Amino acid sequence: MRLLFFGPPGVGKGTQAKLLSGILGIPHISTGDMLRNAVAKGTELGRKAKSIMDSGGLVRDDLMVGIVRDEISGAGARDGFILDGFPRTLAQAKTLTALFDDLGIDDFKVINFVVDDEEVVRRLSSRLVCPQDGAIFNGLMDGLSAGQRCPRCGGTLMQREDDREETVRKRLHVYHNTTKPLIEYYQDAGVVVRLNGVGRIEDVLVELKQLVKEPE
Ligand code: AMP
Repeated sequence: MRLLFFGPPGVGKGTQAKLLSGILGIPHISTGDMLRNAVAKGTELGRKAKSIMDSGGLVRDDLMVGIVRDEISGAGARDGFILDGFPRTLAQAKTLTALFDDLGIDDFKVINFVVDDEEVVRRLSSRLVCPQDGAIFNGLMDGLSAGQRCPRCGGTLMQREDDREETVRKRLHVYHNTTKPLIEYYQDAGVVVRLNGVGRIEDVLVELKQLVKEPE
């Protein structure tokens, strides 16, 4: 099964992608996670991406396309994948279409996660991440704060640099202007399904599993 997770930052794409990837046994390909890894390792890509990510902007298309191509054409993704955070521009969407054509991929779904902007700001400003195991928490709901230990692995929880309110608002602006219009590109192909991203994680997952269920 091949899925593209689409929606604003903070809608829960990453959380749901991790859960569904475990259930379906297909890789979760997150361009945001790949970039954060590159930053942490100090690779050339990481050095180019860091300041752009911290300011809430988009990393150059040519850099993004290279890393996605490698992942999607790799053996691990042969039976399917969840692509999270890509494409984000029309150029990326067109390149992905060409890549799918090259690889003979014609069956995929776009899951369009929907949530309003103020909910995004609320969620992201209290989001905490564990850099060690990638776990995501809500500081308010889970009673945790930055600097405390990750309840799962003991790593040190932190707030992402780009989750500060003014940066979240910039990321939302970029989403509405550059990324959201792409939904029309996919709507024309009839592959888009809408998912309400508001609600408890378990409830959204139930809906999601229903949407991706293959016909018996
Ligand atoms: P995310 O974790 O998906 O919210 O991504 C975090 C940041 O990584 C974004 O705000 C961008 O700066 C960068 N990024 C991730 N995916 C892409 C992409 N497909 N194109 C450009 N920049 C990206």
